[in-house]
Amino acid sequence: MNDPYLRFVNSEFGRKLARAAGLPQPAPLERWQPGQQGSVGGPLVVGGGPLAAQAADIGKQLAPQALRFQQATLALDEWLPESSAPVKAVVFDASDLLTTAQLSALPNFFQPLMRHLANHARVLILGRLPDPAADTEGYVSQRALEGFSRSLAKELRDGATAQLLYVDEGAEPQLEGALRFFLSTKSAYISGQVLHLRPAAHAPGDWVRPLAGRRALVTGAARGIGAAIAETLARDGAQLLLVDVPSAQADLDALAQRLGGQSLALDISAADASEQLVKTFGEGLDILVHNAGITRDKTVANLSPDLWDPVIAINLEAPRLITEALFAAGTLRDDARVVLLGSVSAIGGNRGQANYAASKAGLVALAHALAPRLGERGIGISVVAPGFIETRMTEQMPFALREAGRRMNVLGQGGQPQDVAEAVAWLAQPVGGALSGQVLRVCGHSYLGA
Ligand code: NAD
Repeated sequence: MNDPYLRFVNSEFGRKLARAAGLPQPAPLERWQPGQQGSVGGPLVVGGGPLAAQAADIGKQLAPQALRFQQATLALDEWLPESSAPVKAVVFDASDLLTTAQLSALPNFFQPLMRHLANHARVLILGRLPDPAADTEGYVSQRALEGFSRSLAKELRDGATAQLLYVDEGAEPQLEGALRFFLSTKSAYISGQVLHLRPAAHAPGDWVRPLAGRRALVTGAARGIGAAIAETLARDGAQLLLVDVPSAQADLDALAQRLGGQSLALDISAADASEQLVKTFGEGLDILVHNAGITRDKTVANLSPDLWDPVIAINLEAPRLITEALFAAGTLRDDARVVLLGSVSAIGGNRGQANYAASKAGLVALAHALAPRLGERGIGISVVAPGFIETRMTEQMPFALREAGRRMNVLGQGGQPQDVAEAVAWLAQPVGGALSGQVLRVCGHSYLGA
């Protein structure tokens, strides 16, 4: 824990002082630990419409206890006795709420449940969007779920999180991969997100090593988030190909050696970078993670070309050229997964980061633009947009800005590189194809870029 405030308010003295002074008391998050067995460390409650039966079946494999609430005659808190263990995860299928009157099922279900939730609980609401032209009220009612789930996420405490997942017709086989991620500690720093699961390739056979046999290229892998991504992909079974600038070669080689991978010292913005990558990794790639990125912060009034040009070249132009070249050369295999590292700065803008935000907003557009073309060969492309993550990049921020970045999110703390890496590793699985063209924020439900 490299956050002194978080450490202090979770000490015995700090806790008392913070309580007395009414200061925020963020809880240290529960993160995935090696050897962790089931994904949910306590009872799971499943309720709601037609997807609930499938969710409960999946839940039986993930939680020690999966309870299906379907007795309309009994209020949930009568059904859930005071003596039962605090609820660690909740899945509510709201996909059949197709009139505005039916939306009251949301507070009816969640209200009694709120005081039964465990610390670090996971809440997942499921929806399904009807065609707006054919069923306007149904569409409006389903879109209303977004405001409900995001607000619920802001009301949860003690490290608990909530997301909304729209499950398209035909995307039901992807639900297991999504539940395994969103109900587990792997999604610790993700909250208030809305995603759409679309029909895609099948689920992995092995949930312990879901990337076994897949070849993964990670750029900017020598340190920070890139190194965490490399570790996590290796943990999940991938064979690694790691790239970073020549000045980082010693760290890169050491990491590649430790994880049993291959390394290449290369500036991804060099004119012949794509050519070198195609030549070196011609055997084929199943996972491509564009993580390398830089900041050169200055307000627009002071943005000289030496601050603008490299940020656009490294953060935006290189991922576009490399993805297109690897796709055209056939180096990106069918059903490959491409993950772009964006930023919440791109979504909300950030003072002093016009160059960086422009480059990262361009990456969101790149995913939108390439998703249909890549999808013809089953390839998925999505963006992981981190908020404030504790790395060397954020260590260099002025103290006041750094503190603001850490606290201005619902979880009241910065994320760890592992949090971003878990999201990337999840999108690298087959389920990543179901999320192609979309942005997953890993930002503790940041108030910035909301
Ligand atoms: P970092 O500066 O710690 O690491 C970046 C890595 O990229 C370094 O190893 C660096 O050598 C490498 N790199 C830079 N230019 C390169 C080039 N031309 N060719 C090859 N490699 C190059 O950064 P980080 O905090 O780990 O960030 C990783 C990614 O996540 C970046 O894309 C960044 O924009 C994004 N991000 C980070 C945060 C955060 O809070 N740290 C927030 C949002 C987004």
